[in-house]
Amino acid sequence: MAEPIELVIVGGGTAGWMCAAACAAKLDRRHYRVRLVESEEIGTVGVGEATLPQMKDFNDFLGLDEVAFMQATQASFKLGIEFVDWGSRGERYIHPFGTFGRPIGEADFFSYWVRAHHDGTAAPLPDYCFPIAAAWRNRFMLPGRRPDEIGSAFSYAYHLDAFLYARSLRRWAEARGIERVEGRIVEVEQASETGAVDAVKLASGERVAGDLFVDCSGFRSLLLGQTLGVELEDWSQWLLCDSAVAVPSVRSDDFTPYTRATRRPAGWQWRIPLQHRTGNGYVFSRADLSDDEAAAALLANLDGEALAEPRVLRFTPGKRRRAWHGNVIAMGLAGGFLEPLESTSIYLVQMAIMQMLTLLPAEPSIDPALRNEFNRVMDVEYDRIRDFLILHYIANEPDSAFWQRACAVDVPASLHDKIERFRHRGYVQAYRDGLFGPPSWQAVLVGQGIVPRRADRLADVLPGDVLQRRLTELARTIAQAVEATPSHERFVADYCPAPAP
Ligand code: FAD
Repeated sequence: MAEPIELVIVGGGTAGWMCAAACAAKLDRRHYRVRLVESEEIGTVGVGEATLPQMKDFNDFLGLDEVAFMQATQASFKLGIEFVDWGSRGERYIHPFGTFGRPIGEADFFSYWVRAHHDGTAAPLPDYCFPIAAAWRNRFMLPGRRPDEIGSAFSYAYHLDAFLYARSLRRWAEARGIERVEGRIVEVEQASETGAVDAVKLASGERVAGDLFVDCSGFRSLLLGQTLGVELEDWSQWLLCDSAVAVPSVRSDDFTPYTRATRRPAGWQWRIPLQHRTGNGYVFSRADLSDDEAAAALLANLDGEALAEPRVLRFTPGKRRRAWHGNVIAMGLAGGFLEPLESTSIYLVQMAIMQMLTLLPAEPSIDPALRNEFNRVMDVEYDRIRDFLILHYIANEPDSAFWQRACAVDVPASLHDKIERFRHRGYVQAYRDGLFGPPSWQAVLVGQGIVPRRADRLADVLPGDVLQRRLTELARTIAQAVEATPSHERFVADYCPAPAP
């Protein structure tokens, strides 16, 4: 039998250990030998607490038990993201992990809502969405199994301690044959003819050779960026924030089943409730605020005592021009970074892992067609998220120097056209690859104050009194279902109580 392909993962943050765990679960050790190199001395980025519903799919893919996972990571549930003061100050909306309404007639529910909204007979859009109504009452339950139940049309994600997640995945992966190598990489050896990475050399002198390298080295992008010179495509002309200050605080009584993103004068602040503490951060633009000012503003806006000194992180928004180059595949921060406004980083790691497993070479030589497809898919993922993030920034009151610049950016044509189509009759194209289906766009567009001028023509057909009756019934059904839903606090305490840290 041929020698196994040597796969070396560089970095043991969330990205590295997620990748290692997936390899442990899905690769035959006779064909692939997988090693992970990490340096405790360097450590990990140490932030990243809000996720998307796809994370549950990833855990299911590995075969992790949900309750054990939530206990190990101090996790809570997440039904969506609440945006406070976005659009106009004093307003709030939720981007839910679920759909609006339920089928009423030939058109989709949203089109009927637009029609009733213009007739002056509709309640606000959130009243027709179970996960939003439940979130705002701090209620949570698992989705119902019967499709006709109002409480079945949503999914959920987690707030978790990403450091604990990486640690538990490490235990899990090591128990399944992944070899961990401790040490600081001081040199990367390349083949003189092809430039391919041959090996990484550690400070101890140890040499770790491989056929394929997965760069999970964080912002350093040690292999893809530093060694192979693949540049970052810089998106700061659209996304103006380049820094964050983060601090954990004592958990407050307000145990929300959602992440909160509050608009601030030079960016926005996150609030993420875990079982053992609350995660907080201010994402800001250095051109508008100093680190000290950002830290002071963050500390002044906590709902519990700070548990550590605020920590500053710098970043450039964007992605590497090719995520897979030569024999190096980058994932996590080594491949790119987009601010955590829509909690997308760990999702991007997951997508990269799934693509890598699908396209994994069967022999040491790599067919360029594999690389091309990987890069195409990752480009689509990044581009879609970029446009979605920009959407949040452009439709706001320009009430500070930062917001004047943010509202005035020259948006990518792909986003411009999407918004204009939506303004016309509420059309949002569903796409096959990439994040954010129509309900997500509808939630954020309407939340930011962009409402279609008229409804889809199909929505005109239903008699007005029938439409009115259906909408009233729906809002009532949702309110009743929420009333019967336990509090998030109670649900977590019963379902997955984590031990005190
Ligand atoms: P890191 O955690 O930085 O790990 C890098 C690894 O490489 C470490 O193990 C390090 O030791 C190793 N390494 C580096 N150099 C060497 C060397 N020379 N030798 C040996 N080892 C080396 N994501 C979300 O999904 N949701 C969020 O809410 C969220 N919030 C975020 C907020 C901020 C401010 C930031 C910056 C990021 C956030 N993220 C979020 C992103 C998330 O933190 C990361 O995507 C995720 O943790 C993956 O990080 P990583 O593993 O790529 O990098």
